[in-house]
Amino acid sequence: MTLTTASSRVDNIRHSLVGLKMPRALEMLDTTLRRIEQGQIDGIEALDELLLEELSLRENRRIKAALRMARLPTVKTLAGFDFSFQPSLDRNRIMALAGLDFINRAEVVHLLGPPGTGKSHLATALAVEAVRAGKLVYFIPLADLVAQLAKAEREGTLRERIRFLCRASLLVVDEIGYLPVTPGGGNLFFQLVNARYEKGAMILTSNRGFAEWGDVFGDPVVATALLDRILHHAVVVQIEGSSYRMREHAALVPENLRANALVNPPPVPKRRGRPTKGHEDRPFG
Ligand code: ADP
Ligand code: MG
Repeated sequence: MTLTTASSRVDNIRHSLVGLKMPRALEMLDTTLRRIEQGQIDGIEALDELLLEELSLRENRRIKAALRMARLPTVKTLAGFDFSFQPSLDRNRIMALAGLDFINRAEVVHLLGPPGTGKSHLATALAVEAVRAGKLVYFIPLADLVAQLAKAEREGTLRERIRFLCRASLLVVDEIGYLPVTPGGGNLFFQLVNARYEKGAMILTSNRGFAEWGDVFGDPVVATALLDRILHHAVVVQIEGSSYRMREHAALVPENLRANALVNPPPVPKRRGRPTKGHEDRPFG
């Protein structure tokens, strides 16, 4: 091949990469060609490298977009979870859940335990695994979910809203039990749970035992019907440790207050909009 034909071929390649929308391969092209010239790699290796680079860019973009769609409050990972801090928790059990078979089986995973024991962290980390595996995920605190359903009901769009919430193959409902559910909220949540029953997986986190769900939902009949659905095909993970948030300062909090704080946390104001930057949390930028 003459120098001119080689350079017009490189122009062709550049043109094709633009047409195919392969920005990363385009960016890498010159370096790759130089490495071929210098005998560092052959043609097959060059092709392989360029395509892998492009593929990994696309995969990262897909994951980023899917994480946004999932509305995770922060990104947490299983690698970032210190299992040695929670000895009551069986690491193998959590790692088995990360295999995501529970999603294919449309099971419900309950993460139960006092505040600060890592329920939301684990729920988020499992949701991240599911997103990476290409599953459609949606994360929402119970109070927001009930508000969403109540608004849809007022506007006559409850069926559509429930259908939307059934699309995700994993629905994470966080913070069951922290705030009292508004009147009628238990019934709305039941309708959603019933629609997903045996069809879509869920992860539910709660600081209250199932016996207290009558109080949480303000209606023992609804709570019983709910529990009937969500304890069938269920995995219950009980965490019985101390708060990771308080780990450095627990000694400063008197014993009686510490116990109260674990049983009855003060109501947290409802978060609106983007999460504020926390030192350990990484909101999406
Ligand atoms: P919960 O939902 O049970 O109230 P979180 O999951 O929100 O608790 O945990 C509170 C904070 O402590 C979060 O920033 C979380 O990432 C962190 N955290 C909790 N447990 C652990 C742990 N075992 N290892 C690492 N970080 C943890
Ligand atoms: Mg939480």
